[in-house]
Amino acid sequence: MSHSPIQRGDPDIAFKMYGPLKLADKFRIDPLRDTIRAYIREDWPHTLQSWDEREALYSRRLKSSPASTTMDDVAPEPASVIRLARKFEPRILAIAFYHLSRLPINATYGQHNQAPRHARGMRGHLLSPADREKAALGRERMTRWAADRLEALQLDTWQCSVDEGCHTHIYWRVVVLQRTIMRSMDVLTTLRSMQSHKVERGTSEVVEDVVCQECNGRWDQILNEARRDFFDSLSSFFPDL
Ligand SMILES: [Zn+2]
Repeated sequence: MSHSPIQRGDPDIAFKMYGPLKLADKFRIDPLRDTIRAYIREDWPHTLQSWDEREALYSRRLKSSPASTTMDDVAPEPASVIRLARKFEPRILAIAFYHLSRLPINATYGQHNQAPRHARGMRGHLLSPADREKAALGRERMTRWAADRLEALQLDTWQCSVDEGCHTHIYWRVVVLQRTIMRSMDVLTTLRSMQSHKVERGTSEVVEDVVCQECNGRWDQILNEARRDFFDSLSSFFPDL
């Protein structure tokens, strides 16, 4: 074969290669089957670090693409991934459902009339009613998890020996954090975007937020731990996939 139809890094590989993968599986063409599965696993990793790298990669791809390109052109679509994963790669289901559940229910793949360029969509017709229910249930559980976590952290009693202004700023960050999670339904991205160096650079809604170095260190540690715990809990938000 002079030209392979399987392209490593093709964001739509789960959709394009579903048919070939079924054939490869049926006729025991193991190299083809294993290659397709390996490429798909790269998009849906099992560690938080790899997941962050993947998300950063899609952002870089979008940035370096022409203005008419949208995120759907450079990042995978979840419904086709779930369809394939259920049959061939069940271990990636939880992270694929996480991505699905952070999308608006009516976000159609490749059709973002008014949506921003970085918006992503789904092929809704590939999802079963049970899939939709699981995504909705996971969304509820994740939101409650975030609320419980914030409550348990008792950030309203934040204490600082250096600057008494820290308490107010930290409390304000918590307000923005909650608001952003409610709006984006994306806990991992929100926790990352609220890290202190990003807040200080003004990339979030928090403006003129001056928190001492020690409090920023504590804050970042809290956020990082929450992100790790959240990522490790994905399968409990989406059980029985
Ligand atoms: Zn402080």
